[in-house]
Amino acid sequence: MNSPNTLERSKTDRILSQAAAEFGTPTYVYFNSIIQNRVEQLNRTLGQYFSLSYAVKSNPNPSLLNALSNYLDLLDISSIGEMQLATNAGWPSTRISFTGPGKRDYELKEAICAGVGELVVESPQEAYRANAICASINMTQDILLRIAPPMVPKGFGDQMAGKPCAFGIDYEVVEELLPEILALSHLNLVGLHIYSGTQCLVDEAICENYRQFIGIFRSICERFNLSPRKLIFGSGLGLPYHDSDKDLNLENISKNISADLIAMKSEPRYTNTQLVLELGRYLVGPAGYFLTQVVATKLSRGVQIAICDGGMNNHLPASGNFGMVIQRNYRMHKVGDKGAEEETNLTGPLCTSIDRIANKILLPKLEPGDLIAIHNSGAYGLTASPIHFISHKIPREILVQKNQLQNISRSWESFP
Ligand SMILES: *Cc1c(COP(=O)(O)O)cnc(C)c1O
Repeated sequence: MNSPNTLERSKTDRILSQAAAEFGTPTYVYFNSIIQNRVEQLNRTLGQYFSLSYAVKSNPNPSLLNALSNYLDLLDISSIGEMQLATNAGWPSTRISFTGPGKRDYELKEAICAGVGELVVESPQEAYRANAICASINMTQDILLRIAPPMVPKGFGDQMAGKPCAFGIDYEVVEELLPEILALSHLNLVGLHIYSGTQCLVDEAICENYRQFIGIFRSICERFNLSPRKLIFGSGLGLPYHDSDKDLNLENISKNISADLIAMKSEPRYTNTQLVLELGRYLVGPAGYFLTQVVATKLSRGVQIAICDGGMNNHLPASGNFGMVIQRNYRMHKVGDKGAEEETNLTGPLCTSIDRIANKILLPKLEPGDLIAIHNSGAYGLTASPIHFISHKIPREILVQKNQLQNISRSWESFP
């Protein structure tokens, strides 16, 4: 379970205890060194082929976005609110792409006027609307076309293609629809984009998926004689959220896919093509711990229960209510204690039975005041959770850099 990305437990626990003591709980704690480590690993294994793009929706904390601008080339946003957060955090709009199946006219207009790098067009309707907006302000916008592949390999926890879906243009109708989009005089097609699935923990399935992307990119580029500036690969790289999960091996993935990438890059059509790996959770997930404190314990009909100060309102995915069919416990530990373990149910503070953090988990005996740290919580945490439900305070967010703790908490007003 100790991957090279996890700091030594005792050191981590010292910092988590300090964060709780200084800033209170519930709290998200992000370790900048782990993010740097992830970036280095990705660059070492796949950096010779890919630039990295960070999907803001996985964690849009402004200070984190600012820190990431030191290590990453590109950003992908899914709303104009994310664009504002990104540009306020120091990202130039030219390094940003804008994805999302339901972009409103005002969002398109604001992004175009702000000079967004590329609009990732998800449908012909959206292309017509963007073209009309560009015409009305006499601008031309670079676009990427998002393609929905006809299938996604087995092993992806979340699929956004291979079935009827809201995302992108079905590969089967590209032949028919692309000429109309290419004819729009205010849009400039500079490349293609695929993000068809995520949360995959199978090296070979990741490679199989990239091979499919390459096949689709090549067939479209050849058919329409495009020399793309950019091809975006939605990474699909997953995290081992649960004890039985096994981590991906980037070295294996790189070894298995390199020949296909090299072959494509060696063709004249792709000499000036930037390949981009677009990812969120894999970069920032392992850097974050969600820290919640035990408020009360009880024995109910033979079952030990610990009630914590943050639950599904703060961390929806850990409660199993974020697209999971069966709730499985996230990896977690009791801070600062390795004593004899006993089976416990953990709940949050909400008056609803779906507010659970763990079922029948083995942890050292819990008392009020004890801290629980939930792992892999740096992505899809705070902003993927119903923080308004039952009107508790917003959790704190703390960034740890060179052993310094910085309060990077957000206020209600900081949300777009
Ligand atoms: C959410 C999203 C991602 C990132 O997904 P992860 O599972 O966090 O890696 C990448 N690209 C697009 C278009 C997305 O919507």
